[in-house]
Amino acid sequence: MRNLDWSARGRARVYALTALGTATCIALAFAFDSFSFTTWSWRWGSDPLNNLIIPLLIAPPFFFLLLGKMRQLSIAHQELAQVASTDSLTSLLNRRAFMEVVEGYIRRMEASSRQATDALLVIDVDHFKSVNDRYGHDTGDDALRLVASSICGSLCEADLAGRLGGEEFGVFLPGKSHEHVSLIAERIRMSVDELRFEPNGEPHPLSISIGGVIFEESPTFKELYRKADEQLYFAKRNGRNRVELNTFGQDVRKPA
Ligand code: GH3
Ligand code: MG
Ligand code: MG
Repeated sequence: MRNLDWSARGRARVYALTALGTATCIALAFAFDSFSFTTWSWRWGSDPLNNLIIPLLIAPPFFFLLLGKMRQLSIAHQELAQVASTDSLTSLLNRRAFMEVVEGYIRRMEASSRQATDALLVIDVDHFKSVNDRYGHDTGDDALRLVASSICGSLCEADLAGRLGGEEFGVFLPGKSHEHVSLIAERIRMSVDELRFEPNGEPHPLSISIGGVIFEESPTFKELYRKADEQLYFAKRNGRNRVELNTFGQDVRKPA
């Protein structure tokens, strides 16, 4: 019973509601047949078998078809929502969905007044244009898929990754200490640095720069993104293939 899918997409709900709907129809048939509106009293109906057989013939197919259609609509709705929130190239969340999930998390934390340290990382592939220029757009797409799976492989289940656009990715790390965020960001950077990317059998180095912001308050996604992007800019300026982190609310460091 516990493993049955009772959601609007599950069959269990269709069967259960069909049975319930049929039982309700039978009960109503008995009630209408047994109640006299003239004398305002109950009496046993003249033909009780009809009250059982007629609803049994009509109600199950009616409810089953109706609920089956509703289930199909619900499945289609879920599939559409998934397509709308997924980046087709990497299967990560797309920018809008990533933004909504992070914003939603921050607002929930704000409402519950729970104190936690979270972080947003903005990741950009270094010199990615040269991959496209040298090997073509399709190979560039392969490189992006490789980077995306490398980022995901460096995260825990609670962490979130999305493709923010082009060769830029976002990672949200909820409930992590400063040390933990540095460690994860460095792990992501190294995992991409160690990737074997060999288009046409020719090894081509891949690396990423990471800008991150660690925060305890409840800023908007836009504010966080701007801060993380500033750090990303410093990471690029300071030589690429590196991580630059800062705490939200602190002055941004000047480039070296
Ligand atoms: P930097 O180290 O400064 O980030 O250099 P870069 O070459 O990575 O940066 P730039 O912004 O000049 O180039 C990004 C390139 O990413 C340009 C664009 O053609 C390419 N790009 C964006 N989206 C896609 C995509 O979906 N597939 C492929 N193959 N390339 C893409
Ligand atoms: Mg870029
Ligand atoms: Mg780039």
